[in-house]
Amino acid sequence: MLKTITGMVVSETAFKENSKILNIYTEEGIIGVLSKGCKNIKSPLRTISSKLVYGEFTIYYKEDHLSTLKEGVLKDDFYHIKTDLELISYFAYLTELVMQVVKQNDDSMIYSLYMSTIRKIEEGLNPKVMMNILEIKLLDYLGVGINLNSCSLCGSTKNIMTIDPTLGGYVCSHCYQGQMIFDEKTRKMLRMYYLVDIDTIKELKIKDYVIENVNLFVSTYYDTYTGLYLHSKDFLNRTIQIA
Ligand SMILES: [Zn+2]
Repeated sequence: MLKTITGMVVSETAFKENSKILNIYTEEGIIGVLSKGCKNIKSPLRTISSKLVYGEFTIYYKEDHLSTLKEGVLKDDFYHIKTDLELISYFAYLTELVMQVVKQNDDSMIYSLYMSTIRKIEEGLNPKVMMNILEIKLLDYLGVGINLNSCSLCGSTKNIMTIDPTLGGYVCSHCYQGQMIFDEKTRKMLRMYYLVDIDTIKELKIKDYVIENVNLFVSTYYDTYTGLYLHSKDFLNRTIQIA
């Protein structure tokens, strides 16, 4: 059956001498596609058969089997990301993360959150902030959302002192036992990240220490609650340190 899908090539694997197997992430999930002969210089499939290509792909679709690519139209190749090692590292991590989440939850909203985040990084918005926004939003799909309503120990909504990533939410002054202080600006920003509609973000005006605190919170929270361990995250951390 001939079918046209819109999506992003999230991985490519060499196949035989001149071909590739592409994984295209779409609203319907990940579709494996054989791109025959695409490594040939003259192949019309060449430019659309690589990672970071977003486009329309016409395929001979086989359910539960590998489909075959017939033709495609490139809509974006994320030039800024693919020519910047640091941004490529963010892309690799976010893609691996989303692929893990999709294994557990096939909600099509995840696809649009992912694409919106990658577009904003391409537009030049701070990749660390965009990464944290997507990470926070994905927690709900992993079934481990942050409690942003009340003290995680006693349920009180008053006198909130900090938020603790290992306790999973706020800590009030009554329950406080020396946890690291994430100040009110950081806590407000965490909430903003969770609530913001990614497509509407035009610019980010966030103090550096708040960005770093939110990032520390989110990565500790992920380590504590998601059970995900991703090599691309280690690679990203090393890349950021060098930069
Ligand atoms: Zn409390």
